[in-house]
Amino acid sequence: MIEGPVRVRFAPSPTGMLHIGGVRTALFDWLLARQTGGQFILRIEDTDRARYTEGAVEDIKESLRWYGLDWDEGPDVGGPAESYFQSQRGSYYSSAAERLIGSGAAYECDCTPQRLARLRAAQQSAGHPPGYDGRCRNRPREEIDHSRRQGLPVVVRMRTPDRGRVSFHDVVRGEVGFDLARLTDFVIMKSDGMPTYHLAHVVDDHEMRITHVLRGEEWISSTPRHILIQRGLGIEAPVYVHLPLILGKDRSKLSKRHGADQALAYRDQGFLPEALFNFLALLGWSPGDDTEVMGRDEIVGRFSLDRVSDSPAIFDPDKLSWMNGVYIRSMGNDELADALLPVLSDPRGGLPESVPRPIDRERVRELTPLIHERLKRLDEAPELLEFFFVDEVSPNPAEIVQRKMDRASTVAALREALDRCRGVDPFEAEVLESVYRALASELGLRAGQLFGSMRVAVTGRRVAPPLFDTMAAVGRGGCAARMERAIEVLEIS
Ligand code: GLU
Repeated sequence: MIEGPVRVRFAPSPTGMLHIGGVRTALFDWLLARQTGGQFILRIEDTDRARYTEGAVEDIKESLRWYGLDWDEGPDVGGPAESYFQSQRGSYYSSAAERLIGSGAAYECDCTPQRLARLRAAQQSAGHPPGYDGRCRNRPREEIDHSRRQGLPVVVRMRTPDRGRVSFHDVVRGEVGFDLARLTDFVIMKSDGMPTYHLAHVVDDHEMRITHVLRGEEWISSTPRHILIQRGLGIEAPVYVHLPLILGKDRSKLSKRHGADQALAYRDQGFLPEALFNFLALLGWSPGDDTEVMGRDEIVGRFSLDRVSDSPAIFDPDKLSWMNGVYIRSMGNDELADALLPVLSDPRGGLPESVPRPIDRERVRELTPLIHERLKRLDEAPELLEFFFVDEVSPNPAEIVQRKMDRASTVAALREALDRCRGVDPFEAEVLESVYRALASELGLRAGQLFGSMRVAVTGRRVAPPLFDTMAAVGRGGCAARMERAIEVLEIS
């Protein structure tokens, strides 16, 4: 457990819609902040204008809100920093770059893209690793100024030591060491005056007094660069926590193919934020026992970096569905009805257009108990409930006829069923069940045969909520009309 409040940041680049892996990082940040009474900061790393994607910042904010990851400082909420958008913090980076140049830790470089391309090609054909050869390390200032006046691109590079090692402590991996001979002079400021990620985030993490940097494992190999920049600026390194990769079940890089998606897609697919919160918390962390279903507060209480694993986490969409079902079952009927209303009303994927809007909340509330137990995702509800809302269903004759029955015997059975339907009193599930069990044995049918035909007749589907509850909810008139229709369908087909 960490002593004292942390300051952690989630620092996405708005280069696309937020992915589920990003939410996992933000979630671990948030957990640490809430557990220690610290701050969770959102910072938008938007210095790469070429890859800037319209709408990405909104998507990031909306996603974090949906997952319940409220930030204490950042866009919309403000905070002590002047801005939480890197594109508006340029002066911090240019003054850091000047300091680095002033002390000799960095230098300006006017190598043209053509020269760099030739260098790379030569290195490649000689079988050497690519990297800058240090040509500008000792260029006189006048030459650089001259190039600049000529309109040639000038970048700033860190002067990396030619030998030695740099090492840092990572909370998940322990001591991590790098051979500096493998690190060539890298760019910290581009020719457009924009900092690279390496410089910008180091400056910001320092300025924003970040204590712990949580980020994906893919950044480990860049960390020696960050340590060199920190040394050059004379600032202290934060505590590094590189989170394990998230892989698909086939252990390849996580993608849509694995059922993993953009952060907000889960909302649209009828998942509950609480279920995803719980599921994502377990991607790389475990509470140390078999507990899987844990609410937000319990996770905040139990979360610990000591139990973050250094091996990849596997994203299992079946487990996510299961967990979502668990959370749906834990909702009250009213709560579920409220959650279902927008899903059922949705013009895309909701109940058919023919069902009048607004959808009747009371009716939905009456029906939720019928599907509550089996629902794994909210977006399954429209299909499961549709037949309650439409006037007619269109049963498929082949589905009405059950195993070891034919059309004639099915028609005969449904006629009897229709007849009994008129007399059932009260028209309630228990009474219906006893009436129709008795009918099945009178007709010499197995209950499953009679009930199967009735189910398809009344709902138009082979799989539906429990038959007698369903019939009670459809009502006597509706059930009778649907059975008549099924008989008709069988007779004319
Ligand atoms: N902007 C980086 C990204 O989007 C942040 C990496 C970090 O957290 O340091 O991946």
